[in-house]
Formats: sequence, C-alpha cells, structure tokens
Amino acid sequence: MTDIIHLLPDSVANQIAAGEVVQRPASALKELLENSIDAGATEVTVIIREAGKSLIQVVDNGCGMSERDARMCFERHATSKITKADDLLAIRTLGFRGEALASIASVARVELMTRRIGDEIGSRVVVEGTELKSQTPVSCPTGTSVSVKNLFFNVPARRNFLKSNTLELKYILEEFFRIALVNPAVAFALYNQDKILHRLPHGKLKQRIINLFGASYGQKLVPLEQNTDLVNLSGFIGKPEFAKKTKGEQYFFTNGRYMRSPYLHHAVENAFRELISPDAFPSYFIFMEVDPTTIDVNIHPTKTEINFQDFKSIYSILFAAVKLAIGKFTLSPRIDFEVEPSMDPPPLPTGTPVRQPAITINADYNPFDTKGKNRFRVETPADVQKDALHHFYHETTEGAPVTQKQELISDAAKATASEQFNYFQLNNTFLVTHTRRGVVVIDQQHAHERILYERFLNTVSRPDHSRQQLLIPVTLRLNSDDLQLLEGWKDYFSDVGFEISAFGRDSILVSAVPVDSASTDPKNMIESLLESIKTALPDNKSSRQQILARSLAKRSAIRRGKKLEPAEIRSIIENLMACHVPDLSPEGKPTLLVLSFDDLMLKFRY
Ligand code: ADP
Ligand code: MG
Repeated sequence: MTDIIHLLPDSVANQIAAGEVVQRPASALKELLENSIDAGATEVTVIIREAGKSLIQVVDNGCGMSERDARMCFERHATSKITKADDLLAIRTLGFRGEALASIASVARVELMTRRIGDEIGSRVVVEGTELKSQTPVSCPTGTSVSVKNLFFNVPARRNFLKSNTLELKYILEEFFRIALVNPAVAFALYNQDKILHRLPHGKLKQRIINLFGASYGQKLVPLEQNTDLVNLSGFIGKPEFAKKTKGEQYFFTNGRYMRSPYLHHAVENAFRELISPDAFPSYFIFMEVDPTTIDVNIHPTKTEINFQDFKSIYSILFAAVKLAIGKFTLSPRIDFEVEPSMDPPPLPTGTPVRQPAITINADYNPFDTKGKNRFRVETPADVQKDALHHFYHETTEGAPVTQKQELISDAAKATASEQFNYFQLNNTFLVTHTRRGVVVIDQQHAHERILYERFLNTVSRPDHSRQQLLIPVTLRLNSDDLQLLEGWKDYFSDVGFEISAFGRDSILVSAVPVDSASTDPKNMIESLLESIKTALPDNKSSRQQILARSLAKRSAIRRGKKLEPAEIRSIIENLMACHVPDLSPEGKPTLLVLSFDDLMLKFRY
C-alpha cells in the first residue's frame, strides 16, 4: 500500500480556516474593524454594498504597513501582534491569530492600500483566492484601506447559504455596533449603497449609545460602576421600566472585546428578576476589565467566547453591581425595599408636638339633619397614628404619584384595623397577611426592629415612662476609654430609658433599662451599644439618639426562627403599620414585601 496522507495546499487550508473565521460578510467586517482598532486608528469608515456580498471596505487612519508587511499580512499565521507562545497569555490586542486576512483572501478578491506615516509612498496589493495578483506602489493617504469584493466567489455553496440582504445587513450592523460601542473614542462612519447610515463622532460612551440607539436612551440608562481586585466593571444598564419585549441591547465587553456569555447574562437577568416582567429583556452595556492572564479568549476562532478563571466570583460581583446600580438610581416603586440606609426617611424630628387624642365637637350639631354623617367623632390614638402615616406618605411624596406599594401599606394599615383580618406565621420567620389589593409578607425581625426603633425614639421626650427599674442593679466594669465615652453620652442613655450612675473609678451602676429591652442582659447591651457608638459617626443630637435607638432595637428585637403566638403576630403587624416608616428596618433593610394582585396576574400571564 502506498502512503495516503499528504499536506493540503495553502489555498485549501486557508479556505478551511475561512470556514471558521468568515461565515458571512459580517464576520469579515468584524475582522477588518478589529485590525483597524489594533492599528490605533482614530477614524474608521465602512463602505458596504449589497449587504457586504459585493463589497466590504474599511478605511482607517491607523499605523499602516510597510511594503513587505502589505504582502506578508495575507500569509497564514502572519501577525505582528504576538511572537511567542507566552504572549498568548497576556493578549491586549483584538487580533493575534494571524488568520483573518489569509482566510478572507482565500474566499474573496481583496484589495489592500496602505501607507505608514513616515513613508513617501504606499503599497497596493491585490489578492484573489489566496493568489497574489499584483503589488504596486501607490500614492495614498496614511493608514489602511481593505476592500473585500465578491465574498465566496469561489465557494458557491457558501455564497448560496447567505441570507437575504436585509438579514445580512442586520448582522453587519450588529458587528459594527459592537465595535463602535467599545471604542467611543474612535470616530466611525458607515455607508450602505452610498448612503450614510451612521456617523459617530468620537466622544464618551453615553454619547455613543445615544448616537447609535436614539436620544431617548439619555433617560433610560443608569450608570454601573464597581471596582474589585478581580474585575473592574463599568457601563450602563437600562432602567427596569424600559425593559423591552424584544431581545435588544445586551452587550458585554471584556478588555475591549465584545463577548457572548449566557452565564453572565444570567447574572444580570437575575438582578433584574422581580423588577421586569418575565417576558421582557433588560438592556445593558457592561464593560469588564480583567487581568488578561486570567482569561482565555482563544477558545473560539471568532473570539466571542471567553473563559474566565474565576467565573463564579465574577458572576456574584456582576449580580451585586447591577442590583446596586438599579437600587441607587431608579425610583421604581417596586424596588424601594432596596434603598440604601441613607435614604431612610428620618422619624419625626424630636420636639415635634405629639398630637393628643382630642374630641371635636360640632357646635352646630343638628340631630335632625341627615345630610352629613360623623357630625362629631372621637379621635383614637390609632386614628392619630394612621393620620401620621397618611400624612407621611402624602407629605414626602408630594408631586410624585403615591406608589402602588404605599397604597398597599396604607391598605394594610386599614385591614389591621378591621376585625376580620387574617394573618399567620411562616417558617417561624415571616408574617403573612393580605389586604384587598394583595399579599403582604413581613420579616418579623426587621419589622420588630422598626417598631422598637420608633418606640425608643419616642421615649426621648418622656423617658420616665419607659424605664424599667432593675430588681438588682448591675455593676459593670469598663476600661477608661469606654468610661469616658459613656460619660459623654450619659444624657442620651438616659433619654432612651437607662439609669446609669458612676460607681467607683472603673465601674458603673445600671439601675434601670428601657422597657422594651428588658429581656436583654443589661451588661451585654451596654457593651454592644458602646461598640456601635464607636463605629458610628454622630453629628447632631438627633442622630446620636438614632444611633442608640437603632442599636437598642437591633439588640432587643424578636429574632428570626422564634415561634410567635397569634396575638404577637397581630401586634407586630398592627404596630408596624402604625410606624412612620413601616417598610424599612432602622438599617434600611426591607421589613415587608407586597405582592399586589396586579403583580400576581402579571406572573401568571393573564
Ligand atoms: P491578526 O490581526 O490576528 O494579527 P490578521 O490576518 O487580521 O491577523 O492581520 C495580519 C497582520 O496584518 C496584523 O498583525 C497587522 O500587522 C497587519 N494589519 C492588518 N490590518 C491592518 C490595518 N488595518 N492597519 C495596519 N496593519 C494591519
Ligand atoms: Mg486581525
């Protein structure tokens, strides 16, 4: 038997490679644009005819090529970007495989014109199906122009597989958008059939997005920014309310390269979950910068997939960054559970007179007049509280529509006042109740913290009512720093219900504690209060009280996992609804979630 293995001629090898690199006009355009970016171009013009089937031309003002390089660049594995295997580990350019021009030239008629800045004269090279047709000196501007004509002229099977011009042009634009988005500092122009489709001046990313997708994007985006040791994230995400019903602007870029990643896409989607309807798509333009040695871009010939060493951590960082960006900048009513602690509306300022229950009498009362009801009515404390609640929401959201959630909360407040309201505890953690508009799920611990917090703050004006004398006063030894700290805070401790006196040079005597914290060990409590004072930064009187109240509330609140009696459940729900800020714990965490019937209908896709 004779040997049957032989090497393929270059032309065939290149065509095979072309099958991977150049599937359609859009992929050829991608390679040419990446070469222009790698060449340091600041202005790039793209000219398309017949959706790229007859012409794709890219003209740049980049570094250009020497006479020899103008010929060499069509050789397989001819690249100026890496020289040794190690370079593969730290790639900073878009290209590096040295395959693109060779592949394209094997399946098209390519004309290259190029001149370097220092050179008097440029080169013109024509290659057709791998064959060098001509190389001549030419007078041309600095930079490079590559024209790809009659793509797949020698591979009819591939040519026949191309889609309609409309669809191929869509693919072309998609590639163009990806490159344009990640290079806002480069000016681009794109002509189709001699008509200009896009003119993109160089500028900032946001401007680039607006130029590509329309002026309305100015309002639709919120910035995203997160720097960590592993990855630096930047870019924009679309506000949830602008999520689209068609898969739209979803872009990830890693180290300046567009990237497809279903896995990371999932992280973003996850962060948007609950905020947009399940059949809508969030928009995002997310840029990741990572140490190039921690990624592998070489896993796919078109380099649109990237392997990260630490995919999992990047997932969580991305998830958190998107959540934060949404929470920080949108005012979507459905996510105000996520507001930052600093957005916690303060309780009524201390010193605000507390309205006492009062009797209003109508002096003109005529019992025979049936036109009006409630001629006089007795205001109960609950009325006062509910008024305050109503007042709070209507005061603080003046001008803005009262949000769905706020309505639900005030509904819940009403529901608790009626006799037939239902509630139960779930998993020893959540309290579930409902209103006429939806279901309310309360976190018992956060809720109780909120209730106690407001109660501690309220006692400031009349601490004597809220002290509980200890049967046996407790002595506490403190170091001199703590002792001094406590000395400065003595009045505030007294305001919230403590009775503390000095006892010897290094001890204090605690003889009364706030009523609502009575079940906690006083020694422990004071120590942890001192701890939280040290870590907080008080600036004025009310914020000192808030620090104490917050810390006390956290210490004294009912924990998750504690089984509650029906009366306790009811009392928590009622008291929470009567709070000034019922929906946030003193630390700004959500106390309750509301699932309106509208939400439910949306979820069940009525
Ligand atoms: P790669 O980009 O992977 O190096 P290509 O086949 O795309 O391989 O290009 C081969 C070489 O040709 C590049 O390394 C570069 O030196 C040169 N080249 C290609 N396009 C340009 C351009 N627009 N401007 C300057 N040099 C270019
Ligand atoms: Mg290249």
